This record gives sequence, C-alpha cells and structure tokens, in this order.
Amino acid sequence: MAEPSAVEQCWLQAARDFIRRALPGREGPGGPEPPPLDAVLRCLRSAGGGDLPLAYSFISISDLQHRQCMPCCSHLTWSTNEFKEWAHQGQGALPMQSALPRTYLILVGYLTDRRQENKEKLVDGCLYVKDNTGIIPCELLHFEFEWLESLFLFPSWSYIPQIDQRAAGYLEILVDPVPVNPPEEVPASIPVPYPVSAEPLLTSRIPCKDRSKLTVAGELARLGPLLCISHKTFFFLFLKCFTSAVLFPVLVQKPNQLAWHHTLQLGHRYTITGLSVSSLKKSGHRVFVTGVSSCLLPYCAEQVREQPVDSAWQGESTPSSSLETAEQLSGSLELGVEERPGSTKESKIISYVGTVTKILNVQAGLFLLDDKVCLCLAYQQLLNSARGLRPGACVELIDVHLLQKPLVSFPFVVLGACLSSTVVLKSFSRLSILYQPPTSSGNLYLQLLFRHNLGMPLYLWLVSLLETFEERFSCFFGRRTLLLSSTHRNPGAAEKFLVPLLQAVVPDREEARDIYNEILAKIHQCPLQKCVTLKPLCQAPSLSAVCRMAEQKSWEGFSPSQLLSPLEAQHMGTQELNRRLAWSYCTLSAGSFQPQLILLGVLRVSSRSSSLQLQDKTSTLPCVISHKDGSPFAHTALLGSLLQVENYQLVVERFLQTDFPSWEQLANLEYVRDKKISVYVQFYFEDVQVLHAAEGQIRKGLRSRNSSSLRKNDGGSLTSDLETPEAKMLKLEDPKPDTQSAEDCQKGQSSTTRTSCVSRLFLVTQKEGLMLGNYQLPREGDREREGQELQRSFQATVLWLGRPRLWSHSRETGNPLELEETSCDGEEGVTRHEALLLFMGKSLRWFPFLHLEGLYRFIVPHCSDLEVFDKLCFPPVPAKFLNMSSCPLCLPIQDTWHLQHETWISCLTEHQLAVRSVLRGMDQRISSIPEVLSNSFTGSLVSFSGEIVERTLCASPKNEKTSVTLGLQKQKGSLLASDHSVKLSISVAPGSPGVVDIYIAATYLQHLWGLLPGAKILFQNLERKISRFHNVYCTYIASSCVSIISLPAFHLPSGPAEEGSSPRLVFLSNLLPHLQHLPQARILCHLSCVLTLSLQWVCSLCSSIFKEGRCTRDNPRCPSHTGVRQASARVLVEDGTGEAFVLCRNQHVAAMLGLSLLEWEALQNCVQSRGRVSIQHGEATGTGCVEEPEDLIACYLRSLCRSPLICRPILLDFSLDRKPSKILQPAPLQLRNFRCGEVDFVSQVGPRLSLLCLNVEEVEQDALSYLNSERIRTSAHCRWEHGPVSTG
Ligand SMILES: [Zn+2]
Ligand SMILES: [Zn+2]
Repeated sequence: MAEPSAVEQCWLQAARDFIRRALPGREGPGGPEPPPLDAVLRCLRSAGGGDLPLAYSFISISDLQHRQCMPCCSHLTWSTNEFKEWAHQGQGALPMQSALPRTYLILVGYLTDRRQENKEKLVDGCLYVKDNTGIIPCELLHFEFEWLESLFLFPSWSYIPQIDQRAAGYLEILVDPVPVNPPEEVPASIPVPYPVSAEPLLTSRIPCKDRSKLTVAGELARLGPLLCISHKTFFFLFLKCFTSAVLFPVLVQKPNQLAWHHTLQLGHRYTITGLSVSSLKKSGHRVFVTGVSSCLLPYCAEQVREQPVDSAWQGESTPSSSLETAEQLSGSLELGVEERPGSTKESKIISYVGTVTKILNVQAGLFLLDDKVCLCLAYQQLLNSARGLRPGACVELIDVHLLQKPLVSFPFVVLGACLSSTVVLKSFSRLSILYQPPTSSGNLYLQLLFRHNLGMPLYLWLVSLLETFEERFSCFFGRRTLLLSSTHRNPGAAEKFLVPLLQAVVPDREEARDIYNEILAKIHQCPLQKCVTLKPLCQAPSLSAVCRMAEQKSWEGFSPSQLLSPLEAQHMGTQELNRRLAWSYCTLSAGSFQPQLILLGVLRVSSRSSSLQLQDKTSTLPCVISHKDGSPFAHTALLGSLLQVENYQLVVERFLQTDFPSWEQLANLEYVRDKKISVYVQFYFEDVQVLHAAEGQIRKGLRSRNSSSLRKNDGGSLTSDLETPEAKMLKLEDPKPDTQSAEDCQKGQSSTTRTSCVSRLFLVTQKEGLMLGNYQLPREGDREREGQELQRSFQATVLWLGRPRLWSHSRETGNPLELEETSCDGEEGVTRHEALLLFMGKSLRWFPFLHLEGLYRFIVPHCSDLEVFDKLCFPPVPAKFLNMSSCPLCLPIQDTWHLQHETWISCLTEHQLAVRSVLRGMDQRISSIPEVLSNSFTGSLVSFSGEIVERTLCASPKNEKTSVTLGLQKQKGSLLASDHSVKLSISVAPGSPGVVDIYIAATYLQHLWGLLPGAKILFQNLERKISRFHNVYCTYIASSCVSIISLPAFHLPSGPAEEGSSPRLVFLSNLLPHLQHLPQARILCHLSCVLTLSLQWVCSLCSSIFKEGRCTRDNPRCPSHTGVRQASARVLVEDGTGEAFVLCRNQHVAAMLGLSLLEWEALQNCVQSRGRVSIQHGEATGTGCVEEPEDLIACYLRSLCRSPLICRPILLDFSLDRKPSKILQPAPLQLRNFRCGEVDFVSQVGPRLSLLCLNVEEVEQDALSYLNSERIRTSAHCRWEHGPVSTG
C-alpha cells in the first residue's frame, strides 16, 4: 500500500481525534476495548469502493445538535447527479420549497432505544443515535431489532433542527445503516416451541398450565400506536391466524420490547414467544401479554402447523377498508355536500396514502395531506413527537375515519386516526423544512381532547378557539403561561376560557374513556365514529375582526331614511336633514352575532386617550366598565388582566357625511359622501371573568372590600413573587409587549425584590376633566420649548389620610387597618393635608380609575423618602405664562408611581367613620336635577346625575367657541364636524318631570364614550346657564367630567330610543306649580279656535320662500332646486280648568285641522305654486292682505278654520314652549264659561300658557265621556270652584 498523501495523513489524524473523542472503546467482555478506528475506516473504505472519503469530515452528535441550525443531508456514496435527481424528485409535492442542502459529513454512532435522563434509563419507544458526545432521536423507515446497541455508519441521512433554534433536532435515516463491525455469526435458529392455537386460549376462561411459555404466530394485521397511560408505555399488535380472518391481540409492554414497534411491518408474518394470557381489569378483554423473555421472531413455516380455529371467532373480521386517493375523497366530499348539518351518521373507515403538504397545527396533531385532506393524529397521542411528518413526507394511513364536514367553518375533509388506525411513514421529506415539535408535556389540545372525550367536530372547534386565543394573547403573557394546563397547580388562561365552554357542550360523561375497549372491542367503538356537522356555539375572534364584524353589522340593511320619521323629514331644510343623519348608533350584543361572540381582551388604559380599552395582538377596543350598584369602576388591580365578557353592549357610532338636498332623495345613496364608524364596548364589572390576573396585583385587589365580587378568585394561588407594580407598568406601557421583555423585566426584578417603597393613602375630593395645557413634560421641555404641542392633563384635589409609610417591599403596602389608625389623627390633622395633584404624561392612565369619594393609595417604588408627597411645585408651564400669585402649588404625579384603589368612603365601617367627617368640608356637591333647574339655584358650576333621555346633534352656537375648543380641534380623529354640538336631555328617571339639557361641543366628544339614551351618567363641573327663553341648560366646559353610572338596559332596541308610554294626563290648572320641570304631558282639551295658520314652501338651503320650482332669493342668487314644505299654526285650547296657546308645526297642523294625509298632501302641493299662504283669526275676506284676497286656497283654509267641525275635543301631547323666568305669582283668577260635551259650566282660570304641540289625537265620543269621568274621578285635588252649571 502506498504511503498516504499529506491530505490523507491530515484526514486520518482528524479521524483518529474524532474517534477517540466521540467513540471511545466500550467495556467489552474482556476489559475495555480499543476505539474502533480501524473498523470504522474499513467500513468507510468498503462503502467508498476502497477509497477513503477525503472530501467528508466526521461529525459528532453534539456538534450536529449545536452547530447545525439549518436542515441538511449527507449522502456518503452519491454522485452529484444522483443527489440532484433525488432532490428534484422530492420537490414534486411542493415546488416552491427548496430541497435539503447537501453537506459532506460522516455520521457514525450507536443505535439505541434508551436514553439517560436524571441518572435513569428511559425507554419511551423512540430510537436514538448516540456517541460519546450526545444522543439524538432518529426516525428510520426500516429497522431490525438486532441493530440495537451496535455501532453503525450512516451512509445517507438528514438532520432536521427544530424551528426553535435553541432546541436540538432529529435524524432521518434515509438508507439502512452499515454495521461497523461485521455481524457476528447468527446462531442456529433459536429453538421455538410450536405455536399454539391462539384463539381458544383467549376465549376460554380455563387458566393455562404454563402461562409464560406460550408461543403464537400469525400475520401482522394491525399495529396500534404507541400509547402512554399513567406513565406506562405500551402498544397493541394484532396477529391474524393464517387460515382465517380471526385477529388476536398482543399487548407489548416491556420497555425492551417497545422498539418492536419500529420493526413490525404490516402483512409480514411473525412468531412471538413467552406470552401469557391476561384478562384486562376493566373491560374483561383477554389478550396475550408479552413477558420479560418474550421474543419477536420472523415466522418460519416449517416450525408451525396449521391451527384449528374456533367457530366463535369466525364471523369477526377486520373493518374492511379500501385505499382511496385524494381524487376519490374530493368526490365523496362533493356527495357529502347534500348532507344536512346536524345529521348524525357513521363515519366511513378507509385507507389512504398521501403527501404531507402543510402542518396545520402540530400541537393539535393536524396535518394537511395533498393540499386537500386534513389528517388528525391527536387521538393517537403523537408519542413520536410527529418526527418525520414534515411537508414532503409520504404517509400511509390504514383504517382511518373519514369525516366529511365536521365543523361548518373547517375547510377540509378530515381523516381521523383512532387507536385502531395505523399510520406508517412511507418516505421522508427531501425538503429543507424545519421540525416543529408538539409540546411534549402539558399539551392542552391533547389534554382537553382526552379529558372531555371530544369527538372530531368539537375537537376542531376547540382547536380553532385555542389557536386564535394563543395567537391573540401569547405576546402579552407568553405561550407557556397561557396554555398551562391544570395538571399544574394553577390552570392557565386558555383552560379557564375553554373548559366551561366544553362543559356546556359535553355534559358530564358518566363513563371515563375506555381506551382498551376502543382498541379491543369486537365491534369498533371510538369517538370518531359519529360524523356530525357542528355549528360552533360561540366564537372569540380577534378584536380587529370584532370591529370588522361590528362595522358590517351596523351598515347591514342600513338606510338613512331609518333615522328620521318621514313625517318630520319632509319638513326639514338641507342643513337640518343632513345634520340629523350625521350621527347615529347601534348596539350589538353577544347574540347579535352568529355564533355568539365572546369578547376577550387585556384591560389597559391608553395614556393617549386616557380611556380604558381591551387589547389583543391585533387591535384595541375602547371600553366602558360600570358596576351594577352604580359605583364607579376603579379596579386598578384589574389593569393588565385578561378578561372575558359574554354580556356586553358593543356600540357602533355611525358618522355619515351626506348632502341630501331633501328627504325625497334619502333612498339615493349617491348623496352619502363619507361614512365612518367608531366602535367601543360597555359592560358591567360583575359580568367580567378574569382569565389571567395581572400578577402581584390581584391579591391586593381582592383584599379591598369592594372587589369581593371578582369572580375568578384563585385564592392566593399566584406564586410569582417577581412582579411589582413597577414591573407591571413597564409591561403595560410597552406598545409591543413581548415575552422577552417581560422575562427581562422579571429578571431585573428578582435582584431588587427587597427594594423599599413609600405609600400614602388619600381621598379624592374633586376631579376635573382632561384638559389641554401648555405644560412641559420634563424631558421634552429642554429641547423644544417653542411650538410645543399642548399637553393633555387633569387635576384632582385630594385629602391625604395619615402619614406616608415606608415598606420594605411594594407587595406589603397598606391594609385597611391603616384607616383606623388614620382616624387617630383627628379631623384637624387630616383636613390640613389637602393637595392638588397634577396628572400628565403616563400618569394620565389613572384618569379612568380616579373617582370622587374614592380612597386610594399611591405607591412610589424604589423610594425611601417619606417626604416624596410633599414636594409641591408650580405647574410646569413656561415661565412667561406663570403667574405666581394665581397659580396654586401642585404635586405632579410621576410616571412610575402606582395608584391602588382601596375603597369608597361610603363603604367605611364605624371604626373608620372619623375619615368620613372630613367629607363635610368638601367643595364639590352633587345636586339633584330639580335643584339645578330651580330658580333659587346659585353657582355657575354644577354636578348632578341623571339618565339620558335623548341625544341629538345640533348646530353649535357661534358664541360658544373658546380658545380651548379651538385647541382641541387640532386633534385628529374627531369624526363629528367641529361646528356641531350634542344636546343631551337628562332626567332623573325616564318619564319623571324635570329635564335639563346639556350641550357638549363635538370636539369634546372624541373620548366621551357611553353617552347613549338610557345610560345614567354623573356629570361634574358643568356650567349652568339660562337661555333667553328662561330655560336652564348646561354646557360641558374644559374642566367638566363625566362618569357612567349605569349602562342602558341591555334589551334596548338598536337605534334611537322609542318613546315609551304616553305622557300622563294633566289639567292645565295643575301645570302652574310644576312648570319648571315638566318634560311633556297630555291634556284632554277642546280646540277653541285657530288663531293663525301658515303654509309655505321654503328653500332647503337658505330658507327663503321657494316658488314654482326655484328659490326666490335673488341677491345673491340661490342655486337651490329643492323646496321644503313647512306649516305652522297657533291655536287656542281649553280643558275646563284653563286655556292655553298651542304652537303646532308641520304634520301636527294637519292633525289639528283634522285633515287626512291625502288631503294634506294635496293642500301642500297647491301651495307650491304660491310659495306661501297664511291666514289669521278674525280677519275678513280681503283684509289680511298677505295673500291674494281671491286666493282659493286661502278661502278654503279660512272656511275650514271657521267650521264648527274644527272646534272639537282632542287629546294633546305637549311640552312647554317657554318656561317662565320666575315662579309665577298666582294671577287673579277669572271666571269663564266652558262647554264640555252637552254641558256648559263656569270655572275660574289662571293666565294662558304657551304650549308646543307634540301630538294630536282624535277622541271618539265614547272615549271622551270615559276620559272625562276618569279625569274627574282620579283628580280629587282638582279645584272645582263651582260645580257644573246646567244652562238647560
Ligand atoms: Zn375508530
Ligand atoms: Zn335658497
């Protein structure tokens, strides 16, 4: 042999080094053996046709696992062309994927079925390649049991790392390994006892004489999956008698036999020795069980005689299955379309060969085959961790269930492998695709599947819910935390979410799942047999999808004409018409969606808008949270928690920009220029379920008395000590939170857990609204003083209760006892400690939580300075604006400070009452609506609460604009035109007297959620004003503030609230004392006469008279082509107790005149050519002069008004037109004659009131007498000075 070349020398040296390191000699029978260098080289030479593979280098298992992070393959003996050919073929199924790149590596190692873990040999049924440096799982398509523990050269293999770079991958062995040492002489065939006739042993109850010495033989007909139950790994195989179709089961359960699973091949014949017959405890099934000495041997015909078969087994046969192709399946899918959903039928059992084209969800065991069939392996436990099942791999499925449309929303036909199905990997993928392993322990998908014994439809539904859940929230809490299963002490959020849903669908199963029965029963039973199409019962889509769906729903079937009653709309000018369309809303509940929609989100506060919101990965949804008892929402502890809400109102505010010329075009959507929506949700705290509590916070929250209603109280099961309020804040403020930063954050905390902090208790005595101010935030102030944007801020006045306290750890801060100690300070001690707090920047997040009369605590982390709350300063405005004398000192709240709500002053106990005494000195007082309306009310700022009766958009009074609103107009995102304002009519309760109107400029409305009819609201610091008609009204100003006390009733129909019952019946004489707060009422009255009547057509743009199809305005000329008809009348009515002027408009004029719609229509059309017709009471023909004396229409109207038919009893709904400025002095009463039906009588009456007509109804004679008697009976207090006087 020639001297090796330098290259070869070098290579040999490397080989020597490698083998010494990775393959040191093992303990042999005669002491340690030398490293197998020569044997390995010999083996390599023979594989390479005599040459050493100098282009290749050795790789150890450890290097493979740690250095190789991309998939690769190595083919020791292949030419380049052979490799290219192989790679090209592999791309057939997925041409877009690149093939495995080739490396030039030599892999040598031992094949083994056990690995060392915690000094314990572990046999899990998987195969491994190991050397001295490490051990790696491997998958083989062909395996011989004798290969175990032998040293092999692997000529052709792929290494597939995991997607998670930190975890090691596995090997796919492409070609049979070559033994490094020539195989030992095979001993002459092992003496095998004659196999017994299997079947009688299983059916008879007679115990065998020699239980452990049975030998059976047969053809392998079925191979069950490896299962692990109660930490015991096993599998079943089924041998078929040679002469019949009878199958007999063999339970393989000894650890050293689990590797048989890799050698067994369907259709091959085997002999198994050392079996015993055993009866399974639960089901009583009799099976063969392997013993320690059992062997699996290939069957040799000459060793076996024909076996007699008992007739009892004759009838049973395997479920016959046919091999189907993807085309056949899609054919049957088309047939299946005709199936009605919900109909139950048996699933078909088939066999199938296909190529994995996509991993749908490896955790859930879902793979896509041939781009059209879903393979579900979840029912088989996935014990080999789905190794080998990469896209491009070919699998053969034997006896799987075909389920055509298990879930309405699931797009694929499903092949479900159950415990009696066999899944065989036929070929490995040749594509460069990383390995996605399923979680080995605590796989929530599989756990819930097995625990609730789910059928395929429910399982797929569970998968879709869990997938979305994980996708939405793992960025906040980390996958692990979310998907923790209850096998751990504290179930994760996903389980808390899903288990109640599953329990609702799958009622408590009487029987636990019996897997032995599933495998062994003569008649196949498994959860995959039933083939039902499930309609999901609920959904929990991402927030962005929620908003999309809400938007779609809100426009579904929407038309602008819905927003207006046609009777009103036809009299509206362009401006009013379009303004009335500009803003509307609709509310949706969980049941508005199909299937029902469950809201999930992490509760956060936007420090930009200072509003609460639910958040997930996709979007945020502003939210309004109220308490059912009317107390404000202040659960600071809930910040950062994952909430579930099923009872909610999703409010879609619709903003339309339209230019409809008149009501007639309302159906023509061309006039809609733009439409936008904004969506928010409102719900009660009591309807919230906390799926994942913000750590470290919840315990404190639970301690305070008012959070006892927190439903999911896991009773101190939170174990993490790491999360301090500060850590929480970092997490909350991080715009793109991820697990990494959370981990870092926690790491950082662990070193500083003993850091001290300072806290102080306080009571909120006044809170103002959000304002824009020229404050400077500390950091930015230095750089750009000029042109700095206005900063949002708010102020609150508080009373410090007690002294600041020092805590060694922020977790330990405070308890309610502190309040009792506080009371020792005495009243004087407390009242002196008033402070003005200034919130800006990040501390704005406390805005939604801070409420009047709440007791809170500030916690300053990492602080030991007890005077930190005394560091008052001037507000940070530029010096030139600072007027020292008028500017009060304030305490700016730092970003890192944490606010914690303790309780409400009303909740304090007797012991703590001393604190309540400080309330006496509080500035702010909540008034009642009657107080606000009262003329004796003094003070310009008012606070009161009430229910919104009506919400209308109106034109902003020109003089209301202040510099602050101008500043706000710059803010983007306002969906209402800035020259609009909103009028809210507020009453104490619906139908109760006393309504006060509040005007809010559109610019303030941007972040005012929940101002809907039916909602009860606390308004603070509104400006009280008096109109020129002496009406009291309020305006929302910069320091005003609203908080929602209760939400509108949940059953409220969408759209504007309909008027409920008719107004109550009153007497005119009774009105006087109640004038100040009478929203509307009804009288039964007599129409005495029509004083004035006017019908006109006005221009829809400029309100000039519109005549003969055009506007009469000439200078400047008006381009309008649209006229709007309007009518008004002033009539006199009396009800026997008094008289009143009534102003009627538009359609009410027709009703007052007793005209039908058609007559009214015709009359108005006649006015069109004239522009305007009006008449006055008492004028003779030819005098009024406004209209042509001979005008037919005027004549008609005049005679109509004089007709005795007009003067009739009517039911009139009205409101007061003008309210008197002061309580009227009772005017001297006058005696007047009245006529009631057939009866004349005399009554004393007060001054005439001025009413506005809201509705007119005719009264039938019968109804009239009934109403009259009813009126007299019920109104005992009615002052009849004289009884009815018959004039006979
Ligand atoms: Zn089955
Ligand atoms: Zn005009």
